[in-house]
Amino acid sequence: AKAEGKNRVVFFDAQIEARLNSRLDMQRDLHRALAQDEFELYYQPKVDHDRAVVGVEALLRWHHPTRGMVSPAEFIPVAEASADILRIGEWVLRTACEQLEQWASDPKRNKWSIAVNVSVRQLRADHFVDQVLSIVRETGAAPSQLILEITESMLIGDTEVTIEKMDALRVHGVRFALDDFGTGYSSLSYLQRLPIDQLKIDQSFVEHLEISEVHQKLTRSIISLGHSLDLQIVAEGVENLEAYDILKRQGCDQFQGYYFSKPVHPSKL
Ligand code: C2E
Ligand code: CA
Ligand code: CA
Ligand code: CA
Repeated sequence: AKAEGKNRVVFFDAQIEARLNSRLDMQRDLHRALAQDEFELYYQPKVDHDRAVVGVEALLRWHHPTRGMVSPAEFIPVAEASADILRIGEWVLRTACEQLEQWASDPKRNKWSIAVNVSVRQLRADHFVDQVLSIVRETGAAPSQLILEITESMLIGDTEVTIEKMDALRVHGVRFALDDFGTGYSSLSYLQRLPIDQLKIDQSFVEHLEISEVHQKLTRSIISLGHSLDLQIVAEGVENLEAYDILKRQGCDQFQGYYFSKPVHPSKL
């Protein structure tokens, strides 16, 4: 039994070491990924009640030279542990703004907005406002077509400073969406203080909507709460017609999910 116990310790050590190594590998690979041109932005459409596209969300894709496509759910947290997220985030913003500027001369797409996910380190950086404004200026993108997606957890701590930054950008027409809404701890009074334009209902509420009365009650309350605060409501993770119909009936404003389209390369939009 003792020998087995010892083996087990060795086994777990090896596992921890392997995990640590793969994280370090990823950190190292991420550090080079920008220079090696391994990132790409995919775009997922958001539609209205008539299924007309009103905008897209930019979602980062990493083509790793040996691992293939790595999910942002896996690498964004690793990037966030170092300053690399700042360079990556800047690249995402610039690429999205260049896309906006390209679409500006395309009558089918010139009204679309692009929503960009912003990470907490980016938002906290002193130069964030200046950075966004210079990217907008340099690319020629219309700031009113740029939406920045933030999450509730990012607002914990220096809320006042964050609100000031958001206000400074909103003066120029940049809009803000609160992502993954319903998974955090926002109180009503807190939500009312935030300078946001949109609420995105987290996909965990939209999943199984057609079979869950509880989820239907939750989405209905989120929609009415949001509307009472004059916010636009976006549902994400809409995977079937039933969910779309229910949300439409409940008054949700915009819809995003595999039922309409997966995130795709801009050439496929
Ligand atoms: P998110 O911002 O909540 O993005 C929505 C995620 O749900 C995306 O995953 C999208 O592909 C997926 N999705 C869309 N429709 C459906 C659906 O109908 N069903 C299901 N099951 N999933 C759907 P993705 O692209 O893997 O991104 C994961 C997360 O990584 C994002 O979650 C976001 O938090 C983060 N992320 C992605 N791109 C960026 C970026 O450029 N910057 C930062 N900071 N984070 C990013
Ligand atoms: Ca998002
Ligand atoms: Ca989300
Ligand atoms: Ca999410």
